[in-house]
Amino acid sequence: MNVIAVANQKGGVGKTTTAINLGTALAATGLRVLLIDLDPQGNASTGLGISRAERGKSSYDILLGEMPITEAAIATCVPKLDIVPATVDLSGAEIELVDYEERTHRLNRALERSDHRWDVVLIDCPPSLGLLTLNAMVAANSLLVPLQCEFFALEGLSQLLSTVERIRERFNPGLTILGVALTMHDRRNRLTDQVSADVRAVLGRVVFDTVIPRNVRLSEAPSHGLPALIYDYRCPGSEAYIALARELIPRLNRPAKAA
Ligand code: ADP
Ligand code: MG
Repeated sequence: MNVIAVANQKGGVGKTTTAINLGTALAATGLRVLLIDLDPQGNASTGLGISRAERGKSSYDILLGEMPITEAAIATCVPKLDIVPATVDLSGAEIELVDYEERTHRLNRALERSDHRWDVVLIDCPPSLGLLTLNAMVAANSLLVPLQCEFFALEGLSQLLSTVERIRERFNPGLTILGVALTMHDRRNRLTDQVSADVRAVLGRVVFDTVIPRNVRLSEAPSHGLPALIYDYRCPGSEAYIALARELIPRLNRPAKAA
């Protein structure tokens, strides 16, 4: 089981869009994928068409109630893609967890206890470096970092990388950076080209060749409760996520060198 945390403490950089569409693309290759929605906003759950009523069991129950993952996971409209949805309860979890033993290892323990019925687990993290994201980083084999092509793209990245370093030292020595995915690239805006060149110059090979374009279909799809790959599989955004999956699969077995 390959556990990938999709993380960046900035909001709106494409974490959830990446988790949903990469998850769909990986499932389309035949891999059995589980998406764990670890953001109290529940955008991954909504974007995959899981109504509030269907979220009886959630990531909150796994973290705080010791519910087995297999019990909380439900099927989505995408074959081979399951999800553990998020509910609003999760917004209190950061504070509630503080009183728990092994508060950083709750998700890891839950994954260890689960049978290995999934090949890939994607964790959609909230936009912070709080206890929820720490749980994801302790549980993960690797990190996938979406980075928006904007002027401040690199700002905050050093904080993310130093958090990864601390997690490695204290809890999870094997944690690697699977890759950095540049998102919302706008061909008509020369600044975004400059940003992606700068990011590559600083981070090197850990940055995926595939760049996710800014594409309105990617932002429309969630309101239909569908991954873009099903809503419009031929749009540039869908094609980019298919390319990203193709580039990422070989790295799953041979992770890129840590940044
Ligand atoms: P995060 O999970 O990091 O907060 P989201 O994936 O939710 O980010 O993206 C933030 C917003 O931008 C959402 O409304 C989403 O639909 C939109 N979005 C994400 N990626 C793209 C893209 N490549 N092109 C256009 N809109 C996008
Ligand atoms: Mg999100």
